[in-house]
Amino acid sequence: MKLCRFGPRGAEKPGLFDKAGRLRDLSGVIPDLGPEELAPASLRRLRGLDAQSLPEVGGEVRLGVPVARIPQIVAIGLNYEDHAIEANLPIPAEPATFLKSISSLNGPYDEVMLPKGSEHSDWELELGVVIGKTARHVREAEASAYVAGYCVVNDLSERFNQKQRGSQWSKGKSADTFCPVGPWLVTADELTTPNDLDMYLYLNGVRRQTGNTRTMIFNVPELLSYVSRFITLHSGDLVITGTPPGVGEGVKPDPVFLKAGDELRFGIEQLGEQTHKIVDWRPIAPEECP
Ligand code: ZN
Repeated sequence: MKLCRFGPRGAEKPGLFDKAGRLRDLSGVIPDLGPEELAPASLRRLRGLDAQSLPEVGGEVRLGVPVARIPQIVAIGLNYEDHAIEANLPIPAEPATFLKSISSLNGPYDEVMLPKGSEHSDWELELGVVIGKTARHVREAEASAYVAGYCVVNDLSERFNQKQRGSQWSKGKSADTFCPVGPWLVTADELTTPNDLDMYLYLNGVRRQTGNTRTMIFNVPELLSYVSRFITLHSGDLVITGTPPGVGEGVKPDPVFLKAGDELRFGIEQLGEQTHKIVDWRPIAPEECP
């Protein structure tokens, strides 16, 4: 299934895209698409529905983050060898792990707003893994059973705030709008090859990132098994799995960073594509936050 959430920010409804790509309203079946609805039994029930019997949603409609009330975002750094080299950082012996704030969540076509005063904002196309049931010390061979689905994510990063302001990366990773997710969640039963997916990113029409998830240093089951030894993962949690080479700070001879007016377009095979306009920081009302 291709599950999504549609409607204005903060008032999204659950939906799914049928085989013909038409958006169908799920709000008569489930209240939202949050941690409870991603549990295996709930997904089985949704799979049993006849999509043609659900109301079709017509016209232009905004898509939001495809999962509601994501409890936490666990991020893996430097998981592609070429990216570690371009970042001038050692290839990790164990998965580099950090937390990205849930206040950075953003829809798949929404504006990305630069942090106040930012001169070093950068992109990181990543495969997102959404958890479907509590994972604690899971074995690699069983890790896939804990996955509800997969999605496209961008781990946008302000490099100065990430690297030049003392330890921990969270300050550079967690700005408002810096974690766009979507356009939809492909459930794990439909995506059986998470470790072999082509990835691409364009900035203003110029190809900047090219990758495939098969070149991850640690693949998805290895990452979930590893993370679950230290952080208990719950249904709805989002694990983002590292970026392939081609980020802006690695461009030679001079790095390229995001500025207002730029356009980002990126996607992953089978998981769809996102597009974003980059805008300058502005003070926003609390109710505007995701
Ligand atoms: Zn990242």
